[in-house]
Parts: sequence; C-alpha cells; structure tokens
Amino acid sequence: MPSPDPIDYLLSLDLASRGTVGFYRPGGARAAARSLARGTRVVLVTGFAVGPGMPETDGPPGSAVLGRALRWLGKSVLYVVDDVAASLMEAALKALGEPVEIVVFPHDGAAAAIRLPADHGRPTHLVAVERPGRAADGDYRNRRGKSVAAWNGPLDALFVKRPRGAITIGIGDGGNEIGMGNVRARFIRQGPLAKRVGSVVKVDHLVVAGVSNWGAYGVVAHLSILARRQLLHTPEEERALVTACVEAGGVDGISRRRVPAVDGLPLSTHAAMVELLRTLADRWMQGGVPR
Ligand code: CA
Repeated sequence: MPSPDPIDYLLSLDLASRGTVGFYRPGGARAAARSLARGTRVVLVTGFAVGPGMPETDGPPGSAVLGRALRWLGKSVLYVVDDVAASLMEAALKALGEPVEIVVFPHDGAAAAIRLPADHGRPTHLVAVERPGRAADGDYRNRRGKSVAAWNGPLDALFVKRPRGAITIGIGDGGNEIGMGNVRARFIRQGPLAKRVGSVVKVDHLVVAGVSNWGAYGVVAHLSILARRQLLHTPEEERALVTACVEAGGVDGISRRRVPAVDGLPLSTHAAMVELLRTLADRWMQGGVPR
C-alpha cells in the first residue's frame, strides 16, 4: 500500500478479516484529524446493535477516546446514540473519567424526528464511529445481509441532511456504515451480498480501519502529532474501556457473546494496537518518523 503515513499501516491491518484492504483509504485518518483540529463543536454518533438489545463493543470506546482528545483540545463534544447503545456510551465515558454528555434517540424513531438539540444544532463536525448507514434501498444491514433496522435507529439522517456548515467524518470497518458511500463502488466488487449491504451515505472524510475503534484511535494519533501532545489513551485504559462496555451489556460483534472482545479479537490485541499507535505518535512527535 503506497502511503507516506505509517499510521495507515497499522489501521489497514485487517486482523478481523473484514476485507478492508479492498476499500482502505490511505490518508483518511490524517485528513480527518487536520479538519477536526480546526473545529470547535463536535458531535460523535456511534452504537451498533447486532441483535435486539445487543449493542456491540466496537464504537463507544473509539468515540470516548476521540471525544476526550477533542475536549482536551478545547472543543465542545456531544455524543449521540440510540437507546440500545446508551449504557455502553455512558460506561465508556465513565471509564475514562469523562463528562457524560449524551443525547439518546429511540431506536424505533423516525428519521424526520432526529434533530440535534438547539445548543448543538450548529456543530462544526459530525463524526460517525461504527454506525449503520442506509443501503441503496434504504434498509440497514449487517455483513450477512440481514436487516438490523429494527434495532438501530436512522441516526444517519444527521449525515444525509447535515446541519449547515458541518463537516462530516465517517469511521468504519465494514461497507455498511455511515461514510462507506465514498468507497461503495470498490466495496460492491466483493459481490451481490456487498451490493445489498453497502451503505450509500457519504462523508467529507472517510477513515477505514481493521476495527472501527482503531480508526478513531488513528485519528487521535494524528491529533496528537498536530498538537505535539500525546492524546491517546493507554493500553490499560483500553482494557478498562472494553470491560466497562461488556459490564454495561455490550457484546462482541462477531460471537455476540458478552465477553471482553471487539470484533472477535481479544483485549490483548486491542491493547497492543493502542501501544503501537502511541509509539508511532511519540516517535513522530520526536521527529523519528518521516512526514
Ligand atoms: Ca467493527
């Protein structure tokens, strides 16, 4: 993969076998970070239920780490989830000692009813992390082609009809998430199932990663380099984040079991990814990585 950015090498590791190499976007994390660094009011949208009352562990940890970094940089941050994922988002924020500023929408609500509260009605940025995006026929599907619309609200409406002036960012690892409209043509080459699953929702900046949480961490790594200050969490915090999500009712998105794993990968793998990203960001800040 030709890219001058070593963080791309980590984000493009497809350890969960999602086929992300086929639609990876080199430079996405860096472009998203550069844009966010100039923002002031950021809305983070996350939460993916793999079954009724079964929110998965990918998404809220990445959102909490990205949100904390943005708050440390002086930006106002608001989290948006549907009711199914609210307990996970709250648990992730508490695990980091972050303020719990969450707007919750009913998962069976109508797209027309999804509006940001007036004081956050003019965000500079909307960011989705592992959030279902509608397919060409308007349904929301998992990777096997099954509809998940009964368990996930149409929060992508915020991106389809974005608040005026807002820049949109999508972070994901499958073709079925908000933002994957940008690479849909490449994704649907995987076959007829991909065509049914692939989201049409586009964003200004797309970040693809082997696991969506990692994509958010990659953006934070780039924010760290831009700010010359380590904004990433520690491997210990990663373990605490995922464990807190499971205790709040989260499930592994692959096995659908309440075990401390994300996308079928154990905690040790995620802690290692955080350590690698921290190392790269630290070395880059010290001038040890070519720009
Ligand atoms: Ca995932």
